[in-house]
Amino acid sequence: MYTEKVMEHFRNPRNVGEIKDADGIGMVGNAKCGDIMKIYMKINNGIIDDVKFQTFGCGSAIASSSMATELIKGKSVDEAVELTNKAVVEALGGLPKVKVHCSVLAEQAVKSALYDYAQKNNLVVKGLEDFNPDEDVHEH
Ligand SMILES: [Zn+2]
Repeated sequence: MYTEKVMEHFRNPRNVGEIKDADGIGMVGNAKCGDIMKIYMKINNGIIDDVKFQTFGCGSAIASSSMATELIKGKSVDEAVELTNKAVVEALGGLPKVKVHCSVLAEQAVKSALYDYAQKNNLVVKGLEDFNPDEDVHEH
């Protein structure tokens, strides 16, 4: 049911934790699994120097957060905005259909942290103009 990569990231998630003086924090949740995801980012000169997450949720949510943080670490804000849940699923080698929403949550958490960063710094980030951090997570 789960790929080796999903299992591996679930057993050994990367970038778990909290960043005390984070530049952007995003927290999202979904009702379906009861997953709650919080992502912290340290951003310098538009580059995501460090990213950490805390996820209370199912295995797919943990694997998705782990993979999402790996994919955006060291990337620019503009690149990170373009991270899609599809890219997370692909990097994980696939997720069961009923668990795809957990990867959507990871995408939303990343966007939400970037949105927070943009708000705090009075920046306009391309791709976040229509982002609503309070919107319910929906499947794409
Ligand atoms: Zn889930």
